[in-house]
Amino acid sequence: MLVGVPREIKNNEFRVGLTPAAVREYVARGHGVLVETGAGLGIDAPDAAYVAAGATIAASAGEVFAKAGMIVKVKEPQPEEWAQFRPGQILFTYLHLAPDPVQARGLMESGVTAVAYETVTDAHGGLPLLAPMSEVAGRLSIQAAATALQKPNGGRGILLGGVPGVAPAKVVVIGGGVVGMHAARMAAGLGAEVTVLDRSVPRLRELDETFAGRIRTRYSTIDALEDEVISADAVIGAVLIPGAAAPKLVTRAMLPKMKRGAVLVDVAIDQGGCFETSHATTHAEPTYVVDGVIHYCVANMPGAVPLTSSHALNHATLPFGVALAGEGLAALARDPHLRNGLNVHRGRITHRAVAEALGESF
Ligand code: NAD
Repeated sequence: MLVGVPREIKNNEFRVGLTPAAVREYVARGHGVLVETGAGLGIDAPDAAYVAAGATIAASAGEVFAKAGMIVKVKEPQPEEWAQFRPGQILFTYLHLAPDPVQARGLMESGVTAVAYETVTDAHGGLPLLAPMSEVAGRLSIQAAATALQKPNGGRGILLGGVPGVAPAKVVVIGGGVVGMHAARMAAGLGAEVTVLDRSVPRLRELDETFAGRIRTRYSTIDALEDEVISADAVIGAVLIPGAAAPKLVTRAMLPKMKRGAVLVDVAIDQGGCFETSHATTHAEPTYVVDGVIHYCVANMPGAVPLTSSHALNHATLPFGVALAGEGLAALARDPHLRNGLNVHRGRITHRAVAEALGESF
């Protein structure tokens, strides 16, 4: 199979569908890889690195779309991209089709077979191609909080880890899933005092075991949450109720009771946010202030660290990608978890929840 990697064209997207290391894995299995010139520049991978890995460089995206049997990307295709797909071609990328009927229609009309990273599943009921981005966002959330807490950035002027003789900052993580665990790990690693709240007692047990006394866990009642939030220097919002908008757990009424210059980092902003006063921001202007509390609500946090994010994403997508390249659609029949990734095929939406969200027949 000839596998194509176009340069990402979505605004401020610097990740790339295949890293040179991943290209080498495809080439080692006998596939050809066609990479658009400059596709890897955002992760410091020049064309020469791709050529060294065995790829051929294409002068334009048009050449990649015209020649490749399978396209590997990061972000959902843009209109000028889906116009170039053809029947029978395989697309492997993040799609997030449910809230995007225009893209869904474009993909259906193109005849492409689209496998979405975000709906591929694993044997434990998880989403293995979403998890690496949650790991990145969780770890990054603490860097964002540490930066915002600095006085010149409007924060309280407290160092997360304190110093000998001066108490560390208090970090409260709401939601102890993938994002929350990685946030807790970073905050604890920097020496902060960390509390994780969750509604799942089994999850709190796991975290308690994992961190072996280094963090506190608390069951997330309204009382506990309010108590923790008003005494926090930084609060990380990391809840998820699958398929639903995030619950508004920190209300506007709580903000005046919080410390001045405290920081709220709403990682759940891509699901609407879990703080009442959250609205999505960008890396160009990541923060704003409400009632003296700094809000950081960047919807695509992993985009700030494309190098780390691209490698982490490639490690997760590689086994599925090489299966698709090697077996074509037979890979979907063999692996029900990869089959769950199939969103569009022969002009129809083929994922039940996505079809229901779009009001399409299934
Ligand atoms: P996850 O499913 O692994 O964890 C969510 C946790 O929230 C679960 O442990 C659940 O029990 C807990 N929870 C649910 N309701 C709660 C409540 N009322 N109080 C306390 N805990 C509660 O999900 P995840 O992968 O960690 O993702 C968390 C959020 O981060 C999602 O909305 C995800 O889309 C988002 N995310 C955002 C970015 C970004 O760039 N902004 C990147 C990656 C993930």
